[in-house]
Amino acid sequence: TALTRQESRIRFLAHHDDLTSLQNRFAFRGQIAKSLSRAAEKAGAVALLFLDLDRFKDVNDTLGHDGGDEVLRLFARTLRGAVPADALVARIGGEEFAVVTHMLDPIDPERLLTRVRAARMPFDLTVTASIGSCTGPLENDVDWKRMYHNADRALFEAKASGRDRAREGVPVPLAA
Ligand code: GH3
Ligand code: MG
Ligand code: MG
Repeated sequence: TALTRQESRIRFLAHHDDLTSLQNRFAFRGQIAKSLSRAAEKAGAVALLFLDLDRFKDVNDTLGHDGGDEVLRLFARTLRGAVPADALVARIGGEEFAVVTHMLDPIDPERLLTRVRAARMPFDLTVTASIGSCTGPLENDVDWKRMYHNADRALFEAKASGRDRAREGVPVPLAA
């Protein structure tokens, strides 16, 4: 019925970003919290990657806001297609994305950047991103906060050292 269709649409929108259909920030936090609460299962090491589009303000200035939206959609599709199918991929901010993958199936950030550069964009615009990453266990809040912090710092360093590059944060050690 129309009502159930509407309900499932609302449920979808609570967890997804309507522009890219990736999981949204709320869903991302929920997934992480769920993993942390299942720490007894000892998932092993994961990698957290933050991606932030470079000079996206200029992209909007060049293409207009709708063009910028289209770039975000295409970027999201490229990202989703470039990481393992079971990776958690979320849009956590305007032009900021996060990926969590298992270390058994690691992502090569350089390869990811190459894919982004090669992605077909409106008016043949070349779009680049910067990546900050960190590896560690997904087992408790303290470790997660350190991973988040280290990946965020690494992203800052990638931006500060010229953009269109990846930096790795100090890994958070696995508990014995
Ligand atoms: P940097 O390389 O330092 O990341 O520069 P930047 O311009 O990408 O970063 P900044 O954070 O200054 O600007 C981000 C811009 O992204 C500003 C905002 O207007 C734009 N933006 C955020 N969300 C959306 C969106 O949903 N659609 C569009 N078109 N633009 C967005
Ligand atoms: Mg940003
Ligand atoms: Mg940016």
